[in-house]
Amino acid sequence: MTHRHEWIEQPEARVDSETFRCAECEATSDLCHVCSGPSGGYGWICERCLEREQRVVRDVERYLGLWDERDRHREKSSAAMDLVTARSSSDGGITGPEDVLGILWSWIARWTEFVGAQNESPAEFLASRVMWAVHNPDASGWDDFPRAMRRARAAARSIVGLSPERMAQRCPRCAGTAVRDRETKPGVPCPDGLRDEVRCTGCGFFWPDEERFSLSARWAIRHIGDRNPNAFVTREQARALFPDVPATTWRQWISRRRLRSVDARFRVGDVYDLVQQWMTEARGGARERMTPG
Ligand SMILES: [Zn+2]
Ligand SMILES: [Zn+2]
Ligand SMILES: [Zn+2]
Repeated sequence: MTHRHEWIEQPEARVDSETFRCAECEATSDLCHVCSGPSGGYGWICERCLEREQRVVRDVERYLGLWDERDRHREKSSAAMDLVTARSSSDGGITGPEDVLGILWSWIARWTEFVGAQNESPAEFLASRVMWAVHNPDASGWDDFPRAMRRARAAARSIVGLSPERMAQRCPRCAGTAVRDRETKPGVPCPDGLRDEVRCTGCGFFWPDEERFSLSARWAIRHIGDRNPNAFVTREQARALFPDVPATTWRQWISRRRLRSVDARFRVGDVYDLVQQWMTEARGGARERMTPG
């Protein structure tokens, strides 16, 4: 190959292996069964997806390698104040490495019926047979495998105390979960315990620190009226958005139907307009009271 193939989808292709055709040469490609892009040849997985799926499995082993028997008693330790709280994983009460290894072993048991075992570690066994598994989805149970490995990785990371810390506020850009990481890269604990950066697990956006993140979340809330007037909020959310409006005022608005609900929710634009009006009236009222009569 002297050039980078430029794949163009062929809706008329008669065989799967010709789903994509290169714009510059005669090469054709099948579909990657993970990302649905061109696999780059006859295979059912592209190189990037193959590497990523293998990395997830190897990460599980990397995390388990950090396990220390003392981790089991972290919460009861007299030094607990200085340590990251050991939380049992939310995934089916996984509390030790044996539970995570059990997940890997159940897949190995299934796969060894079809592919022989060699003298290799559990993660290496699975990683090196991902290619086989993709091409034999019925035998391997491929449809469930990537998710199962991600759950195993999250559980392994949790029991060694490296799960990211969740921010109370959601990402102001995509409403995804925002976190501070405890590692510089998978399996490498951050020397200070927690990283300064706040990262959104949804859109991938980074803020340099928690303060900047909070500011941007507050800004987004304050401007939700112009940015997203057609969003709907509950009564509690509306009150949280405009804490200056007294509870009695909210009650009046709703009982006098100045604020109309749809399934017990209110349109942000309507709430916003009403609050603006209320603020103008409140200011006018204050002026009247101050003017001597
Ligand atoms: Zn080409
Ligand atoms: Zn792919
Ligand atoms: Zn986001």
